[in-house]
Amino acid sequence: EVHNDAVAAAAELNAFIVNTPDHALAAADKVDADRAAGKELGPMAGVPIGMKDLFATKGVQSAAASHILEGFKPPYESTVSQKLWDAGAGMLGKLNMDQFAMGSSNETSYFGNVASPWKRQGSNATLTPGGSSGGSSAAVAARLCPAATGTDTGGSIRQPAAITGITGIKPTYGRCSRWGIVAFASSLDQAGPMARSVEDCAIMLGAMAGFDPKDSTSIDAPVPDWAGLLDADLAGKTVGIPREYRVDGMDAEIEASWEEGKQWLRDAGAKVVDVSLPHTKYALPAYYIIAPAEASSNLARYDGVRYGLRDLPEGAGLQDMYAATRSAGFGDEVKRRILIGTYVLSAGFYDAYYTQAQKVRTLVQKDFMDAFEQCDVILAPTTPTAAFALGEKTDDPLSMYLNDVFSVPASLAGLPAMSVPATLNSDGLPLGLQLVGKPMDEQGVLNAGLAIE
Ligand code: GLN
Repeated sequence: EVHNDAVAAAAELNAFIVNTPDHALAAADKVDADRAAGKELGPMAGVPIGMKDLFATKGVQSAAASHILEGFKPPYESTVSQKLWDAGAGMLGKLNMDQFAMGSSNETSYFGNVASPWKRQGSNATLTPGGSSGGSSAAVAARLCPAATGTDTGGSIRQPAAITGITGIKPTYGRCSRWGIVAFASSLDQAGPMARSVEDCAIMLGAMAGFDPKDSTSIDAPVPDWAGLLDADLAGKTVGIPREYRVDGMDAEIEASWEEGKQWLRDAGAKVVDVSLPHTKYALPAYYIIAPAEASSNLARYDGVRYGLRDLPEGAGLQDMYAATRSAGFGDEVKRRILIGTYVLSAGFYDAYYTQAQKVRTLVQKDFMDAFEQCDVILAPTTPTAAFALGEKTDDPLSMYLNDVFSVPASLAGLPAMSVPATLNSDGLPLGLQLVGKPMDEQGVLNAGLAIE
């Protein structure tokens, strides 16, 4: 009966699109067999994790929460998921997400909304678990699994982690292979872990990261023993507070939690200084040009010929089939991104939008490099607000996009960035704090996160 209650409660959140209990059980059996054979166990031995639906998993539907890929069972395994299985983990199922990872609330999924397990005090309104890794955040926050994979293009690990009170880290661009992950914006996409603690994230990231010749942007560098080197003593470290993140009309509770975070880092021995990231206000508009531009190119492959859905009206030719398949297969937000992306890449507009956005991206990167002359790690809020209600922003894409204002800059710069739970606001909802590190310095980010946790 307890089991059935748990299954019913899980179903209510709609965090999983596909359940794969046999996969998780096989990993558990392997622990017994390996132990009996005296073999050394991997760092994730027997851990039942959730896998974001963006990862290709062999023989298991991998649809990126879209209709156009419904029924697609890849004949191959993504590098990151394979590494997790090699480290001993097993899969409980495929996690719901925003369609093609486009969104901040999980409401663009073809498979329905995901509910956060959190409620505002005194209210029954269903809240968003964030997005695009909303199934991952909801499942971990509700304790349906101890950890899950996420992907982060402009904040999709950090924002859902922050508003559900869990921990998530996006490593340096190139740390985790993108091979076998459905591409959204290839120059930004990174995989990372979402879990209940900094230590769990460090262990899981260690299993996910590493050079992969199948991804041309993969970094050929050794993976440090992040978990073994965790250290919350920040003596000798300097933390930068970016003044441009103190935006007008900032939520007072977000600002208070940021102040509290500074004090915790001082208590851990760090020096706290002000830094400037002058191009911050241009990061969000640049992101919403670059990401759709890359998406429009990446999504051209869904043509009704190669994968999933095919809509072939009676007597139709090839062009008609493309149009019918793509019209039926993509959701509204995905179509909006394709339209924006093809527009900013078209002759006549390319220089005005796309080239300008790329220049802004370089300036945003340079801001961070200048700031890191004065500090080791940057502390900022992860999100401008706590979790909002489902439906609250669905008719207003711009206000949805604004939710990414603090997470997008680190994505454009390819930097490691993490969200850790900080406090509960007056509605009883979790707020997260974000740590951004120098390229390849996941350790610095994790250590500062440990001091906050
Ligand atoms: N919310 C952002 C977007 O919609 C980020 C998504 C992501 O990181 N995958 O593009």
